[in-house]
This record gives sequence, C-alpha cells and structure tokens, in this order.
Amino acid sequence: MPALRLLLKKFGFDSFRLSQEDVCRCVADGQDVLLVMPTGAGKSLCYQLPGLARGGVTLVISPLLALIDDQVAKLQARGLRAEQIHSGRSREESRATCLRYLHGELDFLFIAPERLGVPGFPEMLQKRKPTLIAVDEAHCISQWGHDFRPDYRRLSARLAGLRPAPIVALTATATPVVQQDIVQQLGIPAARQFIQGFRRTNISIQVHEILPSHRSSACTKILNESEKKTSGLPAIIYATTRKATEEIAFDLQKHFRTACYHAGMPATSRDDVQARFMSGKVDVIVATVAFGMGIDKANIRTVIHAGMPGSIEGYYQEIGRAGRDGLPASAILLYSFADTKTHEFFFERDYPKPEILRQIFKAASKSPLPKDDLRKKARKSEKIDTEIFDKALEKLWLHGGVQVDPEETVSIGAPDWERTYQKQRQHRSRSLEHVTHFSRNPGCRMLFFLNHFGDKADALGPCGICDHCTGGASSHFRSMARPLDQNERSGVAMILSNLISGSRSAGKLFEESTSSRLNPNRMSRGGFETLLNVLAQQKWISITQQSFEKDEKTIQYRSIELLHRGEIAKSEDIGKLQIASAFGSAAEKADLSKKRIRKSRRITQAKRAINDQPGTDSSAVKRLKEWRLAKARERGIPAFRILTDRVIEALAESAPSTLDQLLEVSGVGANLQKKYGREILRCLSQLL
Ligand code: ADP
Ligand code: MG
Repeated sequence: MPALRLLLKKFGFDSFRLSQEDVCRCVADGQDVLLVMPTGAGKSLCYQLPGLARGGVTLVISPLLALIDDQVAKLQARGLRAEQIHSGRSREESRATCLRYLHGELDFLFIAPERLGVPGFPEMLQKRKPTLIAVDEAHCISQWGHDFRPDYRRLSARLAGLRPAPIVALTATATPVVQQDIVQQLGIPAARQFIQGFRRTNISIQVHEILPSHRSSACTKILNESEKKTSGLPAIIYATTRKATEEIAFDLQKHFRTACYHAGMPATSRDDVQARFMSGKVDVIVATVAFGMGIDKANIRTVIHAGMPGSIEGYYQEIGRAGRDGLPASAILLYSFADTKTHEFFFERDYPKPEILRQIFKAASKSPLPKDDLRKKARKSEKIDTEIFDKALEKLWLHGGVQVDPEETVSIGAPDWERTYQKQRQHRSRSLEHVTHFSRNPGCRMLFFLNHFGDKADALGPCGICDHCTGGASSHFRSMARPLDQNERSGVAMILSNLISGSRSAGKLFEESTSSRLNPNRMSRGGFETLLNVLAQQKWISITQQSFEKDEKTIQYRSIELLHRGEIAKSEDIGKLQIASAFGSAAEKADLSKKRIRKSRRITQAKRAINDQPGTDSSAVKRLKEWRLAKARERGIPAFRILTDRVIEALAESAPSTLDQLLEVSGVGANLQKKYGREILRCLSQLL
C-alpha cells in the first residue's frame, strides 16, 4: 500500500510533516536510521508507519513506563495491536502478551530496556524476530547523557540476536557529540541521520538578568504588558524549586487565574490543575520542570523561566511548548549569576568528585564486602558522608567499576569506569556552561539552538524576533531600566581603557584572564558580566563565543573586542548608559547571592550531620529494607536501584498511607509511585 494511503487509513492524517516521508521510506526499506527532531515533531510515526508497512512485529524500547503506557493506549485507540511488558504489569498480563507475540497477533511490542536482561526473554523474542526495532529516547544510551543507563549500554549486544531487523533510534535531545555516541553504542555506524526541525519561527526569545527576589514582579509585568497588545496568556512559568513555584504562584494569584504544579503535590491535585489549565479555567501555571510532559495545549502564548535552566536541551524542550498553534509566542528567561551557583551546588552533589570514586574502587576487592564495611574501608583521613558515598557507589556501579549484588555487597569491577565517568561528568558540567553561554551570547537566540543541536538542514538565518535580533532589551523592561551607579561607571571606564590599551589586539581572552585583565579591581563576577552585557547591547564591544580543541577537549572562550562606538565613548556617554533589566545595584546582587549560598551550605551541613548518625534502624526502615532486598533479588539489581537508603528513611519518617501522600515524600517521583507505590504502602501499613 502506498505510504500516503497507509497514513490516512491507519493514522487518519492526510499529509506527512517535515521529512517524515523520507524517514519512513528509509526505515521501511530496511536502513538503520538516527532521527533527531524536537518533541512534538512527530517522531513516533517514523517507526509506526514503516513498522506496519514491513509487516510483523515492531519492537519498541522505551525507558519510561508512563511513556510506554501512553503510546500503547494511543495505538490501541487507533485499532492497532499494541501491547507492553514491564515491571508495572502483572505476571498474567505479561504471559498473555508473550503468547500473543509468539502467535503473531501483535503489531507493536513495547518494553523497557532492562527487560532484555531478564533470562528467557530475549530467547522468547528470537523465536519470532521483530521486523523493526525502534529505540525511543535514544539519548539514554549515550555515556555522556545524564539519563545514561547501563541497560541501554548493553542494548547493542542484546539486540544482536534479534537482527537483521533495521534499528531506528529516536530522540529529541542530542547534541552532535551525543548523536555520534548513540550510533556507536548501538552498533549502527552507517545509520542514515536525520537531524532537523529545530527552528521555531513564531517564538520570540528574550533573556533578562533579574534577581530571584524580583522575579514574581517581573513575571506579572511581562504577562500584564503582553496582554495589552496580544494576550500573553495562557502562560507557563518554570521555577527551579518547588518552594519557588509556590512563592511565585502566591504573588501571581493577585493578578491572574494562577495555579501551582510540582511533583510534590498529590496526583489528584496535579491532575486537577492540569485539567483546569487545559480547559482554560486557569491562565497561568507556575511549575517545576515536572510539568509539561505530554501536555498538548496549542495556544500557550508565554513560557517564562524564572531561573536558569539546567541544560540547553531541557530549556529548548520547555520553551517549545509555547505557540504550538503557530501564532506568535514568547519565551522569556529571567536569570542571575546566583543561579549558576545553585547549579554548581547540585552538580557537586550529583556527580561526586572522581577521587571519591577512586577511593571506593581501591577499597573494593574480588571478595564481596558489605556496603557499610566498604565505606569504612574506603575512608582516608576523612569519613565519607553516607549520601555522597551512596551517590559515588551508584556512579561507580553504573560505569562498571564495581559489581553490587541485591544484598548490597560490593566487589571490584573493571578499571575503565573512570574514563566514562569523567566523560559523563565533564559533559554535565559543560552543559551548565552552555546555558551560561546562551544567556550571555550576543547573537541570535534561535541560531544558538540550531548550532547546539547541529541542525544543518536549516539554512541558518537569524530569527529576526529575539531580543538580539530586535536590538536589545524588550519593551517589558525598558521602563525598569536604571542608570549605572558610581562603581559601575568606573567599572565601564576601566573595561574600556583596558581594551584600548592593548588587550584588544590579544583578541582571544579566556574566561579567567577576561576577568583579571578587564576587571582588575575585582568587581563581583555577576556585576562584571552585567556591564559586559550592557556594553555589548550598546554595540560598544562585541563578545563572541569561540572554541578550540586541546588534548581532545573543546576549550570554550570568549573573544571580547572593542568596537568603534566604545572607542570614541566619553564619560558623559557612560553616564547615559542604562542597565535595562537588572534590579538593584551590582553590589546588592553580589551580596545577596553570597548570603544565599552560605545559607544553603549551612542547611546541607546540618542535614549531613543528621544523616551521619549511626542510629539503629526503626522497624519501618527494617521492613522497607527487607522488601527492597526481595525486590532487588527478584530483578537482579543492587538494592539502591530500587530505593536509596535516604528515601527509605524519609518514607519511614513521614509514613504515608495513600499514593498521593507517598508522592509528597522527598525523593519519590511519579515513576517510583507507579512502579512500587502499592507495595511500599502495604509494607508500611503492615507495621500498624
Ligand atoms: P515526538 O515523539 O516527536 O515528540 P509524537 O510522535 O508524539 O512526537 O507526535 C506528536 C503529535 O503529532 C502526535 O499527537 C501525533 O499524532 C501528531 N502527528 C504526527 N505526525 C502527524 C502528521 N503527519 N499529521 C498530523 N499529526 C501528526
Ligand atoms: Mg516521542
């Protein structure tokens, strides 16, 4: 049947989007394909249609149970024969699905990658090989990705027995390095690569430097102002913490029909908030990034980030929810230098220093040691904090440096863990740098994204509607502009005179030397950056982001050049400069951010002190650990992959009795709730 007829008949669509047709043809012809297109572009069709065209079963590997259930339901609603097998389903259901698979009664079988490690399962698949294999969310296979999972890494070996079916790998978030890694890891180096569709022509992107304490009022102003021209509503405001979502929502309620959304709220409230937003009863949602997955609301006019996002990939995904209807929409980022510090703090917590992993690796040996003994053995002069130890052990295990059995006894693994861990850690730290570069980057915002994702199919023209293309600060903030204070004026004079007296010819200025040469009297880093931005916006200087390769690493640096207007500027011109969107003086800002960091450090130190108490396990902790061990044995994975000790302690302490309450426990997300929620509650209730 011709592709277009199949499209209409099976999916009810009357035309292909973008290059769906090209991709479908390649896949139907049996070629391996890597497809990178943004969320919502219609990637699923690119395996579903060719799967039907090829006949037989398409095996779909996807990492998230919620996504699997959603996709299966959609296909079933179209009358297609789709089923799923994963740990959230009962044995009977799985058995029935296997039978249907073997009898050739399925078009699509969805599984999570770990299923291929379950003894007997690959053998079952081999009895009737799939005719197509789709690996969704394929960035999880890359050792650089933060979602990197060992089960994905083993995919290529495990899929070998199911070949010669073609493999199509799909993802929305892969930079060129990750793209290469995916095809390498999957063993499909000759795959046709389609990387496209990243340009959004109707989203105007703006970036403003604004202190956390002023973000609510900035949001109000943005939404109020845009309402006068064309409506800025409905809007999503993303905040970095649950607390911040509540605070901003509280302020915005006075002006708009507002609701708050984060993973700590009961599922029923979240569903309710989402439903009210979808039906137009709520105009503004203030949410953490937990909100938006699978949200199909076409008329969102504004997406505001009230804080620096953690990665460009995530950020692009989030702003992509604006203007799906094709009408004008805005994406506005409010950030300040202090946000970087918050991210650095999370980074140190989530990616422990390699030295700590090395210490643990050295302490491990061929004969298995209980986890706690290993921790004691691994410590040098200083004791390793339990939370950091658990994180480090998990990373070491993920990268093959240790083997951990379900009982959490640990034995030594292969020494090459260090290479992949370092890579992953560097990649993560670089992705934070990319966000900083983005916020400071003086060029077209949309072009920055296209370059970032390696979308070469695009002709690469500036967007014409972002803050840089339209010449600096937007109207939202012009009225908030203030003149520079005395310190800032002398800072500008200093920067200009240093550029005139020679550094200009040096051209290449590294991050550190930029500060020391242009900022000799040590303004705060945030204050200094603000001034550079003001000068760049006035076209007194140009800042370009550049890079070169050294020892296989890409070194990023900024090149700062004095332009004619800066060269001829006089002190009265400096007096006329305005800081377009910053609130408060540079001094106030630096001070505030320092205080915040000190405070957050104090809190975590206090927490650590509590965690390090060698207290005896309560009966709830004991029970949960017993249950966890049974689960871990059943699945053949280390116990901490089921639940970490920290989450067990939190569960024991807050003793939730409903699925909703369960979600309020710190460390419990929707996935865990879905997978083990009932069992955990049963476990806790048996104590009463
Ligand atoms: P992705 O996986 O790229 O994020 P999906 O495959 O989930 O995106 O598709 C997003 C939406 O677009 C779905 O609702 C899908 O039904 C719809 N869609 C995909 N292709 C077409 C098409 N050719 N015509 C109309 N709608 C389409
Ligand atoms: Mg998808």
